Amino acid sequence: MLHYFLENRHIVQIKEICTALNQTKKKLVSNSFINPEEHYIDCKDLFVQIKELAISLHDEKLANSQLVFRNYFKLFCDLLVYFDMLKKGQYKDSWVKLQDCLDNIKYIGRFTARENRLDLDELYDLLVQYESLYPYSVFCSSEYVISKSHCSICGKSMQSLDCPHIKGNLYWGEPAIECIDKIDVVQAVSIVSHPEDKRCILEVADDDRTEQDKFIMLHQYVELNQPVLQQFSIEGFKERRIREDMQIVGRKQPCPCGSGKRFKHCCGRDMYYEHIRYVVTPTTQVSLIFF
Ligand SMILES: [Zn+2]
Ligand SMILES: [Zn+2]
Repeated sequence: MLHYFLENRHIVQIKEICTALNQTKKKLVSNSFINPEEHYIDCKDLFVQIKELAISLHDEKLANSQLVFRNYFKLFCDLLVYFDMLKKGQYKDSWVKLQDCLDNIKYIGRFTARENRLDLDELYDLLVQYESLYPYSVFCSSEYVISKSHCSICGKSMQSLDCPHIKGNLYWGEPAIECIDKIDVVQAVSIVSHPEDKRCILEVADDDRTEQDKFIMLHQYVELNQPVLQQFSIEGFKERRIREDMQIVGRKQPCPCGSGKRFKHCCGRDMYYEHIRYVVTPTTQVSLIFF
């Protein structure tokens, strides 16, 4: 779909959209995150015009590809917002934005053949690397029964045979969405490692650590000030460290805690603690495609 859109570059609106997208991508390359949507907003009318043109040309594929390309453009705006949040230390909120970006890439991938995904595969890998810097490993997942819903295209129930639309598919530039009208019962909330929606995080109550402490790995990475499109690998090494809060004396000397035992038989037994040292190695840089 991305490819089909670009094949129609003789259409003046498509040419204009490509120019605006290039400007947004340039911002990402040069780490300038202000006004992330300025070029995208300029294009909103152009997308509508392309859809109308596609309908008049009886070209459903063009109508659908404008929607997919619109999501592609939006991704780069969201990436600018995401990296700006990291720069400002808004780590918790940045997790949701990161998930928006990952979901959008998956959504575009659904309509685009692997060989035509432009820079998306590399960007996906990069975002997964960022994801691994967050402290989240388990999530909430709720199970519920939907008793009434309707199709966003025809308005009929998606479970009935009257609605010919398939959830998520595109029809003349519109996605078929199942709009939920009524949820009967929430059956359960479970804790899972692979949830449907990673935005449902779990938090410890009364955790008064600062955002920087809660997201220590991410914070340390951000402090390195790497270019945002830099790919990297992280490796953890287990180390034994001497506890800073302990007075260390000779092994055979009386223990400073006053127990009367020798140090090696008393506190000396827990003078080490296990610590994981993470080493970040920069790999290749994501190269964005300009049109
Ligand atoms: Zn329908
Ligand atoms: Zn002791």
